[in-house]
Amino acid sequence: MTKILAITNQKGGVGKTTTTVNLAASLAAAQQRVLLIDLDPQGNATMGSGIDKRDVQASVYDVLLGSKTIAEARMRSEAGKYDLLPANRELAGAEIELVDLPHREARLRDALHGVAVEYDYVLIDCPPALNLLTLNGLCAARSVMIPMQCEYYALEGLSDLVNTIRKVRANLNPELEIEGLLRTMFDPRNMLAQQVSDQLQEHFGSKVYRTVIPRNVRLAEAPSYGVPVLYHDKLSKGTQAYLALAGELLNNAAQSAATA
Ligand code: ATP
Ligand code: MG
Repeated sequence: MTKILAITNQKGGVGKTTTTVNLAASLAAAQQRVLLIDLDPQGNATMGSGIDKRDVQASVYDVLLGSKTIAEARMRSEAGKYDLLPANRELAGAEIELVDLPHREARLRDALHGVAVEYDYVLIDCPPALNLLTLNGLCAARSVMIPMQCEYYALEGLSDLVNTIRKVRANLNPELEIEGLLRTMFDPRNMLAQQVSDQLQEHFGSKVYRTVIPRNVRLAEAPSYGVPVLYHDKLSKGTQAYLALAGELLNNAAQSAATA
């Protein structure tokens, strides 16, 4: 069955987009059929997939407002070898325009109906806010991946997010689970990062992915070339980490399929 994952954290700059793009490319490299949905008006995942957000004809905006289907609006990211539902600035207006529409939180879920079966993974890159766009992501997803930096305030923000996920589960999407917490931009020499990482494992146990994403300059450079890091520097630590994360996801999926 298709795994639909929202990559979310209302905190900005924690590595959501970097994770979505590079996980999509790593899963595609493992022969998985992947759709990346850019749900952020910044359009960073679109650009990072090698598609110029200024050139897109149709986007996730048109899908949310119901004037295009996903099949009509999606594009092929040749750079990442996956399909992309792109975003651009236009999406910033969607928040207001959606308010008066019926099922305003469920527009993406409804649009995915029918097309999701074409994919093994659908990854949704959420904006840094708990707004109506993010709600659409959480409503469409089966599970949530939370990238986070191991910093002092990280745990505080996490409880807001966990509460939101609880509310979404109670009101909109009873199946929604936390798939896992991902430590990003990790520097093992930083004592505080180590401490926060230990606390995370204490609180969340096996919900913390074993794979840790290190701070790696190749990950930051790759978007300026419009490619995932895998096709920028194959041997870099960033590439290895996201390939390992894809492996961990595939392993977990295989294990839960075996026990089901
Ligand atoms: P926003 O909340 O604005 O959408 P985000 O959570 O999507 O941000 P990214 O855009 O992925 O975060 O990352 C923020 C910045 O940090 C970017 O410049 C990115 O290139 C850089 N970055 C992300 N992960 C790493 C890493 N592991 N090592 C080095 N730089 C990184
Ligand atoms: Mg982002």
